Amino acid sequence: MSNAIIVNNLYRYFGPLKAVDGINFEVSHGSVCGFVGANGAGKTTTMRVLSTLDYPTMGTVEICGINVVNHPAKVRSLIGWMPDHFGNYEHMTVLEYLDFYARALGYSGKERQMRIQEVMEFADLIPLADRLSNKLSKGMTQRLCLGRALIHDPQVLIMDEPAAGLDPKARVELKHLIRILAEEGKTIFISSHILSELGEMCDSLLFINNGRIVHHGDAESLKQGTDGVGGQLYDIQLLGSPQALADWIATNPYAEFIESRKQGGRVRIESLETASRVLASMVKDGLQVIEFHREQRNLEDAFIDMLEKVNTPPQMPKAAATASTEGTPH
Ligand code: ATP
Repeated sequence: MSNAIIVNNLYRYFGPLKAVDGINFEVSHGSVCGFVGANGAGKTTTMRVLSTLDYPTMGTVEICGINVVNHPAKVRSLIGWMPDHFGNYEHMTVLEYLDFYARALGYSGKERQMRIQEVMEFADLIPLADRLSNKLSKGMTQRLCLGRALIHDPQVLIMDEPAAGLDPKARVELKHLIRILAEEGKTIFISSHILSELGEMCDSLLFINNGRIVHHGDAESLKQGTDGVGGQLYDIQLLGSPQALADWIATNPYAEFIESRKQGGRVRIESLETASRVLASMVKDGLQVIEFHREQRNLEDAFIDMLEKVNTPPQMPKAAATASTEGTPH
């Protein structure tokens, strides 16, 4: 069976502006994929094409094997779309709001009642049934949006910044609901700026920058730095002058001094294999190392490293530039 979402060479230009600039990715059935990017990176534009709300300039998108441009109605029956803003419906209660959408989706009679009851129970909306939908808190509003997106029991859920503006408790509740949906086998494609939370709930993370995909992988490998992005970060502490560390690192082709800390500093080392050789060289050169600790990067660091990497013009790596004369670290 092909993947739930297949995006092939997708472009979306607005005049000269390349909002989405030739992206490719796939999301497997029943997985949660986080879509990460700075403001204006192209997330909403991509999600709108996936949700049949906009046409690509070029390229194809398939949801559960169905082409979004050729068969939009079929795709709409397969997806639940949660936009980043809530349309205001004055004088409509939560129950009336869901009933309105259930009717619009073609449900009638007992089936409609059952669908509404199911989503209200799932999103904890029953106590809010008679509340006006435009007078809810942000967290309640997001639960209502989620309920609405689930009325037709879609296989794929596309959520644009669902956690934006939520307090920590509401974010935890939302995360819990998303995990339950994934366990039920739904595929979830979710954009967010809150990277630490995406890391916890997503099976994979897709990074977009200036309309281009710059990384697709799992959160753990990104944090560990085992995917070659940004190297390994170490906290190194010395006896004696902390400046000695910065001076020594400046002469080593495999390490980069990031910032000073009390007794030393934070250092980026090219790879795990190189780290032990760097440590051996430091000791050999007389540095009194009292701590050499590999840090786990958080997702924010990984994201910033990623952006730096793609925004820096290619140049000869420090190691390669000196390898011919040095061969090994020191
Ligand atoms: P944010 O996190 O701020 O929501 P985003 O990653 O979702 O950002 P998009 O909304 O996809 O970014 O926008 C990508 C680029 O396309 C931006 O430069 C935006 O101004 C532009 N853009 C989006 N929609 C249109 C439009 N309808 N007409 C012209 N430009 C647009």
